[in-house]
Amino acid sequence: MKKHNFYAGPSILSQYTIDKTAEAIHDFAGTGLSILEISHRSKEFTAVIEEAQQLFKELLDIPQGYQVLFLGGGASMQFCMVPFNLLKTKAAYLDTGTWANKAIKEAKLFGEVDVVASSKPDNYTYIPKGYTVPADADYFHITTNNTIYGTEIRQDFDLPVRLVADMSSDIFTRPIDVSKYDLIYGGAQKNIAPAGVTFVIVKEDVLGKVDRPIPTMLDYRTHVDKGSMFNTPPVLPIFSAVQTLRWYKEMGGVNRLEQLDNEKAALLYDAIDSSRFFVGTVAPEDRSIMNVCFVMKPEYKELEKDFLDFATTKGIVGIKGHRSVGGFRASLYNALPIDSVRVLVDAMKEFENKH
Ligand SMILES: *Cc1c(COP(=O)(O)O)cnc(C)c1O
Repeated sequence: MKKHNFYAGPSILSQYTIDKTAEAIHDFAGTGLSILEISHRSKEFTAVIEEAQQLFKELLDIPQGYQVLFLGGGASMQFCMVPFNLLKTKAAYLDTGTWANKAIKEAKLFGEVDVVASSKPDNYTYIPKGYTVPADADYFHITTNNTIYGTEIRQDFDLPVRLVADMSSDIFTRPIDVSKYDLIYGGAQKNIAPAGVTFVIVKEDVLGKVDRPIPTMLDYRTHVDKGSMFNTPPVLPIFSAVQTLRWYKEMGGVNRLEQLDNEKAALLYDAIDSSRFFVGTVAPEDRSIMNVCFVMKPEYKELEKDFLDFATTKGIVGIKGHRSVGGFRASLYNALPIDSVRVLVDAMKEFENKH
């Protein structure tokens, strides 16, 4: 049976990415060797990592003065690398969920952390607004898409301080004005590649401003100087990332991706809003177009397990909600076809009619 993959991450990749990766596992770039067994310093792989950087710059319209890095350690490693490299005395953070919280915890190891606002008391069901970012903060950190709670910031803030963003789960879903940010990072396993590579887009002139010694591997300058080849980079995920980015380009770039993502999200949110059984968990104005969280209304709560079983019979995979929200979470990453959303929406309607 055809599967409809709604996993939150690692998550669905385009068939193009999977096919090209499978081919390269057998024979990479006509070398007669697998991508799994070649030197990262071979000219064939050097071309891949250069193309990865190039496609990031092109698709996101990254201005001069920024570097694109491909590192290990996941987005979670960035929670400490960011303050290690950028926090002199004080940083400001917006607390919008579990990932933001983890970033805050790490930053506290390096200096004063001003959490300007938090939606924690309401289980992160909205994005706080109307807060002030202290003008003397070294930077302000936001999580643009809260993968677990299904809220999203879809705008580029104008701020008097440096802006740092975790865009793990919504990169390449809209045009971004990169010039408003000093650093953007994310794990690739949500919208780009298999797990194992983390992208970092960093403005070069923010580096080298702190006095503390930084271990070599945790210093962005090491990776800037060596073009992400100081040590062995995650070869296979970078190869797959290039395939996804080529596919994005072929699709029409981020403008087109945003349009498609909006259509998918609208289809599912409309189904939720018009349902007798289901209800969304977050404030409508802050709804994520990537991770759609919903539950059964209190009077039908006991049917949640039945719906999961029913969905499984339709080939729907990965919609069980995160334990901190419960209910359901459907992740609608770029590679998910709108037909899969239709299958889910139809399953919701059929289930409702049956009960
Ligand atoms: C998944 C996720 C992370 C954690 O990524 P790892 O690569 O597993 O460290 C961090 N932030 C956000 C927004 C995420 O969705």
